[in-house]
Amino acid sequence: MLHADNPEPVLPGARILLVDDKPELLTSLHELVSLHGYQAEKALGGQAAMEILQEKPFDVVLLDLIMPGISGHDILDFVSREQLDCKIIVVSGDGSFSGVRHALHCGAFDFVKKPYAADELISTMETALRQCQLESENQKMELQLKESESLHRFIVNSSPDLVYMLDRNGCFTFVNDRIDTLLGFTRDDLIGKHYTELVDDDDLEVAHNTFNERRTGDRAAHNVEMRLKSRLTRRGSRFLHSQNIWVELTAEGVYSDPRERTRDNFVGTYGTARDISERREQEQVINFQAYHDLLTHLPNRALLKDRLNLGIAQARRNKRKLAVMFLDLDRFKLVNDTLGHSMGDRLLKAVANRLQSCLRRGDTLSRFGGDEFTLLLPEVRTRDDVVVIASKILDRLNSPFVIDGHELFVGASIGIAMYPEAGDTGEALIQNSDIAMYHIKGRGKNGYQFFSDEMQYKFSTRLTTERELRNGLSQGELRVYYQPQVSLSTGQITGVEALVRWQHPTRGVVEPIEFLPVAEETGLITRIDEFVQQQAFKDVAEWRRAGLGDIHVSVNLSTTQLEQDSFVERFTSSLEASGLEPSSVKLEITEHTLMQDMEVIIPKLKEMRKRGLSIAVDDFGTGYSSLSYLQQFPISTLKVDRSFVGDIRADNSDASIINAIVAMARGLNLELIAEGVENRTQLRYLRSHGCSEAQGFIFSKAVPAKEVIELLRNNSFDELILEEPENVVV
Ligand code: C2E
Ligand code: MG
Ligand code: MG
Repeated sequence: MLHADNPEPVLPGARILLVDDKPELLTSLHELVSLHGYQAEKALGGQAAMEILQEKPFDVVLLDLIMPGISGHDILDFVSREQLDCKIIVVSGDGSFSGVRHALHCGAFDFVKKPYAADELISTMETALRQCQLESENQKMELQLKESESLHRFIVNSSPDLVYMLDRNGCFTFVNDRIDTLLGFTRDDLIGKHYTELVDDDDLEVAHNTFNERRTGDRAAHNVEMRLKSRLTRRGSRFLHSQNIWVELTAEGVYSDPRERTRDNFVGTYGTARDISERREQEQVINFQAYHDLLTHLPNRALLKDRLNLGIAQARRNKRKLAVMFLDLDRFKLVNDTLGHSMGDRLLKAVANRLQSCLRRGDTLSRFGGDEFTLLLPEVRTRDDVVVIASKILDRLNSPFVIDGHELFVGASIGIAMYPEAGDTGEALIQNSDIAMYHIKGRGKNGYQFFSDEMQYKFSTRLTTERELRNGLSQGELRVYYQPQVSLSTGQITGVEALVRWQHPTRGVVEPIEFLPVAEETGLITRIDEFVQQQAFKDVAEWRRAGLGDIHVSVNLSTTQLEQDSFVERFTSSLEASGLEPSSVKLEITEHTLMQDMEVIIPKLKEMRKRGLSIAVDDFGTGYSSLSYLQQFPISTLKVDRSFVGDIRADNSDASIINAIVAMARGLNLELIAEGVENRTQLRYLRSHGCSEAQGFIFSKAVPAKEVIELLRNNSFDELILEEPENVVV
């Protein structure tokens, strides 16, 4: 019986088992099944069926119920016991209801009664096969689904980013496992919590914008940077103290119907957050480096300039003043040169600390480079306010620094520029405070000085000065000028002070104040001093030989020259070479230099004194010398600083310092010479107070050798001196 209308098997390759105890029935069943395109195996009787079923799986079993020995019921029990996955169609002549019911109860798929109609049997079998097919497809699908779900879960949970979902109210509905390693929270800590509980307080506004805007697609929030609270401690990083973590966050609105993004459709927010704290830290370090000095951790030039410009804008708006201090350490170079750079570095740090202790909130102390610091005081009312701070700084720096058992003394020279008098831009204020600082350096250091318009500055930077000065020295551009010193009892020139000048090829005559500080810093000062001394000894020896008078010469010594180990020998041999008597030479040493390194300087000066030279304390009165202090030095003359002489006026100005100096000189049996005498009033006053010599513009400024020869020839200032003394109010 060929069923040509049903040639295609439902499940090609279906595994079918036919079971009957009657060989002829088994054969005809096999034929029937084969006719419909199915391959089937035969089992003759229950025993054979059980053996085959044990051996391999089948999709469908056509089972005869009534068989001797092992019956169809036994097979059903066996299949159920062994949990074999096959559909059993019972084919049996036992039409009794209970037999069929029992078979179905025991797991049979269907029932066909013998003698069967071929169509019915095949169609029942094919129904079972279809079912098999469906089940296997389902199973496959289920497996696939399971696989893909766990794949997704795996992907989400092993993502290096935090993956989250918020509901429409902003509460967490999902976070992946990363939450634990990133922030130290468990999923349960967060599910149901509002996002504000996780966001750093300072970033709540950013978060609010990000999550409440419900953006999607192109408008979704990308790369929003914010901090999330963390329970984990960060490895000690230098500049980041917060425990919170910087993340870069994406947020995209999720809608129940993606085509209709309405408020009603909004179900929540999906997004990711990536840990960027390392990058932020690096940025912060880079930022810090760009705006701070790495040694002292103080703001650097760039940051100072920023703050200065801000300060100026505020001062302008509020019609207030502002001060910039330029501070240069006086003896730093010496420490660096003798004790090494690492000691120098430690000293700078210690200085920075001390300076900081003098400041108020709002002041900015910055390291400008080397041993220079700049101080911005944005809140000052008067110059007196600034004087208080400058004095405090000088005072604090006066006590020694003890580093590694070394007692280190550093002083400071402070230049001050006030807004608006000394400039109305940051640049001008810094430059002018620098100029003022140079002036105090040039006047013996350790003090402060306000900028005034008379201070000129010919060189734009110190580097230019240094380069041109080196060049000038080797090109012979330095000159020695002489300023006469006049006896106040005879009006005769008793001596000259040798003062250096720089005949610059384009800038003309440059005053010492403009280049000596640089020369001191760079060590060029010793070459300059030695040049001036050699030239002066030679000139004066010549003038004496020419009968121009029994004059002496005063030469200025720098700290650096005095500190040279070979100072005494070099100086003496230069003097001997000129043929000038040592008794005709006076060494001018500033009060500040004397105080710098007493143990080194005193023996040298004693030696010089022994060789017949005399020693004057220059710029006397600007330092802190006390009487007992001065007694230790082998000095013969005090040279009153010109600032005190300038204080003598015809009106009732205070010249009490001069009076004190005069008294001191008398007490110590020292000669007194006044410098910077410019008018008759001053001259008269000094004479009447027992000052023996004077030097100043009233007689002559410092002039080239040719001109001083003229003065020596005339040598008569009698008409200035021999005037009747007048009463002067002091
Ligand atoms: P100083 O040794 O106190 O020299 C006196 C300064 O006062 C000179 O300034 C002189 O020109 C100035 N002066 C003299 N009379 C008057 C006056 O009546 N009124 C005013 N306003 N000023 C007067 P100068 O030549 O500019 O020298 C400045 C300083 O530079 C000197 O002060 C000295 O400390 C230093 N200096 C000059 N030449 C040398 C040198 O060869 N070696 C060293 N180490 N220092 C030098
Ligand atoms: Mg001098
Ligand atoms: Mg002087």
